[in-house]
Amino acid sequence: MPELPEVEIYRRYLETSSLHQPIEAIEVEDFKLLTTDLSTLQEALIGHSFTGTSRVGKNLFVLTNAPGKVIVHMHFGMTGDLEYYHSSITRPKYARIVFHFRNGFNLGFICPRKFERIGLIHDIDTYLAQKKIGKDGLEIRLSELTARIRRKKALIKPVLMDQSTVAGLGNWIVDEVLFQARVHPEKRTESLTDAEIEALHDAIRLVLTTAIRHEATYRDFPIGFLIHVREWDDSPYDDVEAHKFCPRCGTRIEKKEVGGRTTYFCPKDQTL
Ligand SMILES: [Zn+2]
Repeated sequence: MPELPEVEIYRRYLETSSLHQPIEAIEVEDFKLLTTDLSTLQEALIGHSFTGTSRVGKNLFVLTNAPGKVIVHMHFGMTGDLEYYHSSITRPKYARIVFHFRNGFNLGFICPRKFERIGLIHDIDTYLAQKKIGKDGLEIRLSELTARIRRKKALIKPVLMDQSTVAGLGNWIVDEVLFQARVHPEKRTESLTDAEIEALHDAIRLVLTTAIRHEATYRDFPIGFLIHVREWDDSPYDDVEAHKFCPRCGTRIEKKEVGGRTTYFCPKDQTL
C-alpha cells in the first residue's frame, strides 16, 4: 500500500514532471475513481495548469492556477501510482485517469485495483479537519505529538496508527518506529514517559526520512531496521529464517496481533 514515503516520492515526481503545462483534456475510464463529477473537473481544469504540490500523510494535493482556488486531491488507495509519458507512447497499463497537456505529454493516474481517488477541493485545512487528519509525520513537533498522545488512553500502537494523532504512519512504519524507540507496542499511553514520547518523535522522523531516502525500497534499508524480519512477497533473502532475529540484540523477534494488526517487536528491547 502506498504509504507516506511512497506518496512523498509521487509528490516529487509530479512536481518535477507535470507543473506549468496547460491541461488540454482529461480522460476518465471509470467514474467511480472520481469524487467530483467529470464535467465539473473538466470545466475547472481545462486550459489551466498544475502549479505546485502539498502532501499530508497519504494525501497528495495538487495546486492549480484555475480561478476559484481549485485544488486536485489524489489518494493512491492500495496500489496507485503516477506516470508521466508522451502521447507517442502507448498509454500505461491501468492509467484510468489521464491528464493530457497541450505540449503532447500526459500524466497518467495508475489505478490497478480501483481503490484510488481523484477529486477537487477548495481548501486543504478544511478538508483535513473534515477527515480528522492530523499533522504530517514529517511536520509534527514534539509538543504537538505529546499533546495528541496524552489526550488518548489506549495502547500506543493503535494510537500511532490513528491518522488524527499523526498522519501517514501505516502498520510497518509504526512497528519500525516503536522498535527504534524501544517502546512496546502494547504499552499504554498513560504510562509513557516524556523521554519515551521524545524517542517516538525522533524515530518517526528517522523512519520516514530513511524510507524516502531509499525510495521506499525496503531491502535497501539499513541493517539495524526491523523491517528486514517482515516477509515480503518479493523477499530478497534465500534464508528468511536468518532474518528473524533482532538486529540489535539477537533475540528472536515476536509476532502478534495488536489492535487487529500483525505486529513485530523485540521482546528484550521493547518491554511493558
Ligand atoms: Zn532486541
